[in-house]
Amino acid sequence: MTEMLKGIAASDGVAVAKAYLLVQPDLSFTKVTVEDSQAEAARLDDALSKSSEELQQIRNKAAESLGEEEAQVFDAHLMVLSDPDMIGQIKQNISDNKVNAESALKEVTDMYIGMFEAMEDNAYMQERAADIRDVAKRILAHLLQVVLPNPSMINEEVVVVAHDLTPSDTAQLDRNFVKAFVTDIGGRTSHSAIMARSLEIPAIVGTGEITAKVKAGDILAVNGIEGDVIIHPTEDQKANIVKIGEDYAAQKVEWEKLKHAETVTADGKHFELAANIGTPKDLTGAHNNGAEGVGLYRTEFLYMDSPDFPTEEDQYVAYKAVLEGMSGKPVVVRTMDIGGDKELPYLQLPHEMNPFLGYRALRISLSSLGEDMFRTQLRALLRASVHGNLRIMFPMVATLQEFRSAKKMYDEEKAKLVAEGVAVSDTIQVGIMIEIPAAAILADRFAKEVDFFSIGTNDLIQYTMAADRMNEQVSYLYQPYNPSILRLIKNVVDAAHAEGKWAGMCGEMAGDQTAVPLLMGIGLDEFSMSATSILKTRSLMKKLDTSKMKEFADRALTECDTMEDVLEIMKEYIN
Ligand code: PEP
Ligand code: MG
Repeated sequence: MTEMLKGIAASDGVAVAKAYLLVQPDLSFTKVTVEDSQAEAARLDDALSKSSEELQQIRNKAAESLGEEEAQVFDAHLMVLSDPDMIGQIKQNISDNKVNAESALKEVTDMYIGMFEAMEDNAYMQERAADIRDVAKRILAHLLQVVLPNPSMINEEVVVVAHDLTPSDTAQLDRNFVKAFVTDIGGRTSHSAIMARSLEIPAIVGTGEITAKVKAGDILAVNGIEGDVIIHPTEDQKANIVKIGEDYAAQKVEWEKLKHAETVTADGKHFELAANIGTPKDLTGAHNNGAEGVGLYRTEFLYMDSPDFPTEEDQYVAYKAVLEGMSGKPVVVRTMDIGGDKELPYLQLPHEMNPFLGYRALRISLSSLGEDMFRTQLRALLRASVHGNLRIMFPMVATLQEFRSAKKMYDEEKAKLVAEGVAVSDTIQVGIMIEIPAAAILADRFAKEVDFFSIGTNDLIQYTMAADRMNEQVSYLYQPYNPSILRLIKNVVDAAHAEGKWAGMCGEMAGDQTAVPLLMGIGLDEFSMSATSILKTRSLMKKLDTSKMKEFADRALTECDTMEDVLEIMKEYIN
């Protein structure tokens, strides 16, 4: 039966394709006694050899599409699978206790996992525990004859349906086959949504119930522009979606004409439009969309894409590639922002009640666990600085003391490199992200010590509204046009200008077509966004007059009580 679900429009574009369910299957079983323990051991052998075959295939596919290094994690899994001690113990358990293979497998692997996890300070052992957990799940699935979903093996056009997608799940999606994705949870600023925009995969998040409503193979019509998905669409509905897709493609052709144009408003004022990137590979998208710089390089993806901490050399190579690739245009590199929804498999962070309010980003960099990683990153950045126009910024700064500590480490690493005779640029700017209300409120004091601000509204709005950016139940509180948010932004921009510094924005709000006129009026200098939003923003700015936008922003800041009031007066300025 045809049914429509509404979610949050997370990435523009449309698709009609079969559903591919990326959900964890039920792997529950009961412990039973068995008569024939040999037959049970044979079932185990069969599950082991099927798991091995499957892992080998996944490994080869990963090596092909992601590279040898990425494929190494599967070598570790294959090793677990052929560990004679562990497999011997499982078989022993079957024959001694006359239990089914499922229960013997669980008992023995749980024992190993517990043992490795107890070695809390040893990252290597923690990884082994994770490997065993993964492999045990695969063997169990074969014993229970349940198919585990595997996004990297998708080889036909599909719409991926999932409860949630982690950034690393999203990175694995092959654009040639994955035509869209739809999730139960998540908000517009969750990192999987942000990645979908840079990969140009249409996406809808936060539908609440898509996994409960859809079966594998059901046809879905996804409208990522409006945020709705139709299950079992009629022929008319399919044709309608195709038409929306064609109109959107025609609109994009118009925007593309502005690729080499300058960003100037109707009254001749220039604003800088930059791209947010996650890896050097994203530079292609930045160039194709006419970026005037990189306003946010999220370096944590370099850490997330690697099986272990990236070395100073690996990082130097990546930073140099980005700086050279931008040919002297500004590149703002953010130091690692691990934590929140971005985890590293090789860095075991404690489980937290509120990861977005916890141990993340600069808080890790300044702690004893993260200091070495942070200093390595700073050295790689400093060495790369001679290859372009580098700006460095620290994420999640709450206090001036944190900024001063980070800046001190930066100065120390710079002095060491200079003493070693290494060339370092002397025009590097060092700034901060404004993501925490405390820093936004105290912006006048920060402005005396930093070179620039970049406002991270994804976090700033979640912290100001106290509304988790991943939680669709409170997504109505993601209110970029609320006067409270506008006042904070104005405070930051004015504070920067009073000290002769610049203020940019790299949160999703910078590319939000409703917010752009307000931000122009507030006087923001630089707008950094998903590359795919740049040309439509340039097109919009060309039509607008800054003095009119200033009048609009002033009224929004002084006359309005609510976001709705702001949208109401907007009608007088934008048609
Ligand atoms: C932000 O918080 O607005 C931001 C740009 O950082 P991230 O989305 O990576 O948290
Ligand atoms: Mg942030």
